[in-house]
Amino acid sequence: MFKELHNEGYLKFYLKTMSPLSIKAADNNDFDPTVPDNKFLRSYKDGKLTVVMPGSSIKGVFRSRAEKKLKGCDIFGSEYCGKKLSSSMDGKERYKESCPACKMFGNTALKSRILFKDAYPIGEIKMGKRKNVAIDRITGASKRNALFEPEVVEDGTFECEIKMENVFNWQIKVLTEILDEIDDGYVVFGGITSRGFGRMAVQNVQFTMRYYDRKNISGYEDYGFYIERKFDRETLREKLSRLALDDECFGKVEFDETL
Ligand SMILES: [Zn+2]
Repeated sequence: MFKELHNEGYLKFYLKTMSPLSIKAADNNDFDPTVPDNKFLRSYKDGKLTVVMPGSSIKGVFRSRAEKKLKGCDIFGSEYCGKKLSSSMDGKERYKESCPACKMFGNTALKSRILFKDAYPIGEIKMGKRKNVAIDRITGASKRNALFEPEVVEDGTFECEIKMENVFNWQIKVLTEILDEIDDGYVVFGGITSRGFGRMAVQNVQFTMRYYDRKNISGYEDYGFYIERKFDRETLREKLSRLALDDECFGKVEFDETL
């Protein structure tokens, strides 16, 4: 990748459930949804076992949305970027030759520049169980009497953070557009989304931008090694409003812009 650290961005926000959220624990028996254990995924935080939205699944949601918005390669097809890149190329070349979605989220030959942290609940969380009809995976028909009851988060707020290294403004714009699409209900999380599960609202958006190789930009505070500025959601939207998501910005490799 780019060896020097030019900038860092930290996008922090809350995701609040607007409908039941189902993220199944991995030890569930995937082949038989009638097994009683349809627990929500849990992980340890500060020594306490708590429900969690894993960063990998949040990333999956953002990536698949970005692939639809941008010209993304098909990771299962012949046009997959990972197949076109060779080990003789340097990091910059591999970046240049990748599609916009891979430029953001990485591929087998390109490190992702965007890291999604596991999101843990803040405050009270209300759990529940929902009856659901098991669908036969082969025929698509519902199995007779095959009800399963996934454990869901009925009401809860999760604290999310996305960390970016050497990020371009267009990539920040893609992420903020996806936040809006979460609010609009176009982007949903977890399973059973066909029944309306996984709708969430975005709250408390705060974006911090740091530049390590720039000085004296108005609005930024100087911390010696870097300059930094915090943006709320409105200011961020306004700053990026005139930026078009086109080939010109996707082709960008020089860090000569500021936010
Ligand atoms: Zn790609």
